[in-house]
Amino acid sequence: MNRSFRHWGNSFINLLFPKVCTVCRNTLVEGEDIMCIDCLLKLPKTTFASYYSNELTDRLVSLKAPVTKANSLYYYVAGTPYVRLIHDAKYNRRPIVARNLAETHAKEMSAKGFFDDIDVIIPIPLHFTKQWMRGYNQSHEIAIGLSRVT
Ligand SMILES: [Zn+2]
Repeated sequence: MNRSFRHWGNSFINLLFPKVCTVCRNTLVEGEDIMCIDCLLKLPKTTFASYYSNELTDRLVSLKAPVTKANSLYYYVAGTPYVRLIHDAKYNRRPIVARNLAETHAKEMSAKGFFDDIDVIIPIPLHFTKQWMRGYNQSHEIAIGLSRVT
C-alpha cells in the first residue's frame, strides 16, 4: 500500500514536473533516469573496455603518470549534446548524473573483470572553495556510483 502510494505520488510529481533527458531534452519514461534509452544507445562509447592498453592509458603514460590500467565510458566530443552530461555533473548541481554514469560504467567494466584486482576507490579531492561553491565533489559522486556496483 505504501509503495503504491509512493508510485502514484511520483507519477503525479512527474506529471507536473516531467523529468527530461539530459542529452536530448525529451521527456523520460519510467525506468529512465538521466537520459533516454535512445541517447544511451547512441552514447559515443569508447572501446577501451576491451583492451588492457588503450588510448587513455597511452596518454596517461606519456604524461609520466604511474598508471597500470585506465578506462572511460565514452568520448567527450565538444559541441555534441552529450557534453551536457559532464556539465550537469560538474556545474549544474546534478550529482546524480555523475553517480548514474559511474554505475553504468561500472556494470560494464565489472563484467569484464576490470575491478577484480582493485581494492580501493579513492575520489580525487576538490579544493574546499570549489566544493563549497558546487555543493559536492563530482569525483566523490563517481566513486559512490562505482562502489555501488563493485
Ligand atoms: Zn535523450
